[in-house]
Amino acid sequence: MENILIVDDSLVQAAQLKSIIDEDYNVTIVHNAEEGLNRAVSGDYSLILLDVILPDTDGFTLLKQLQENPATQYTPVILITSLAAIEHEQRGLTLGAVDYITKPFHPLIVKARVNTHIKLYQYRKQVEAQSMTDQLTGVANRRRHDRYSVIKWQEAARLQAPFSICMFDIDKFKVYNDTFGHPAGDKVIASVAKTASLHLRRGTDFFARYGGEEFVAFMIGENMDSAFEHLKLIRRSVEDLRIPHNPEVSQWVTISIGGVTVVPRADSSYDTYLKVADTMLYDAKRFGRNQVVWANESMKQLREK
Ligand code: GH3
Ligand code: MG
Ligand code: MG
Repeated sequence: MENILIVDDSLVQAAQLKSIIDEDYNVTIVHNAEEGLNRAVSGDYSLILLDVILPDTDGFTLLKQLQENPATQYTPVILITSLAAIEHEQRGLTLGAVDYITKPFHPLIVKARVNTHIKLYQYRKQVEAQSMTDQLTGVANRRRHDRYSVIKWQEAARLQAPFSICMFDIDKFKVYNDTFGHPAGDKVIASVAKTASLHLRRGTDFFARYGGEEFVAFMIGENMDSAFEHLKLIRRSVEDLRIPHNPEVSQWVTISIGGVTVVPRADSSYDTYLKVADTMLYDAKRFGRNQVVWANESMKQLREK
C-alpha cells in the first residue's frame, strides 16, 4: 500500500480527506509545515496533499522547500485550495504542484485525482528503477549512486553519523581482457559485484558499479577501524573466488580498495571525500595492489600491507 501524507491544520478537513482515501492508502496526517517537511524527507510518501493555508509556514513555501530538497523533489504534491482563491491554484501549479483539490471535497473527484497521481508516480518509479540499475551486474549504477549519495550524505550530516566512502578497482584488468577476452572479463565484473554486494546488504550500506571495472560503496554509522576491517573482508572474499588471472601478473583476480571515514559537516561535500577515496585507491595500487588503504579526516592512513 502506498503512503500518503496530508499536511493540513484543520483537524476536521484532514480527517474528512483521510476518510476518502483511507481504504486504498496508508494515510498520515500532520498539522503544520515543519512537521510536514520532517515527515516528507523520509522519502516514504508517494503523494503529499498540502493545504495552502497553514499556521506556521504557508503551503507555497513548503512546496518550494520540498521541490528544492533532493529527498522530496520528485514527490508529487496536490494542493488543497478553497474555490474562492483561484490565484492559489495558479501560483501552486506554477511552483510545481501536480494538481489541486478544491474545498468542499467531492469524494469521487478526490479519489480519482489521487489514484491518477499515485499511478503516475508508480510508473515513474518503475522507469527510474530500471534506469538506475547496471545491466551487467544487476547492482545500482552510477546515476543511482550520484542521486542517492547526496541524500544519504545530508542525512548523515544531520545525525552526525560517521560516513565511509570507498572505491574498488579490479587489478590489472586490461591484461585479463587481453588474455581471456572481453566476455570472460564481463563475467569477472559480475562475480566481483555479486561478492561485494553480499557483504554490503544492511540498510546503511550502498554499493554501485561506478563504471568499467570500478565500484563505489558507502556505509553509514561505522567508525574508521570497523569500515577498514569490513572492506578487508570484501577484498579477501574476491581473492577467495580464485578466478585465475594471467600468471604473469597475478595468480588470482584481485581488487584494490581505497576508502575514507568522516563525520559529514554542513559545509563539506560528498564529492570531496569521494576524491579522497580515489586517492587512497591510487595509493593501494601504488603500494602493490590487492590491498585496502583507508584514511580519516586528517588523512591519517590505515594500510593493510
Ligand atoms: P590497474 O590494476 O592499475 O587498475 O590496471 P587495469 O588494467 O585494471 O587498469 P586500466 O584502467 O588501465 O584498465 C581497465 C580495463 O578494464 C580497461 C578495459 O579493457 C576494462 N574494462 C572496462 N570496462 C569493462 C567492461 O565493461 N567489460 C570488460 N570485459 N572489461 C572492461
Ligand atoms: Mg580502472
Ligand atoms: Mg583496474
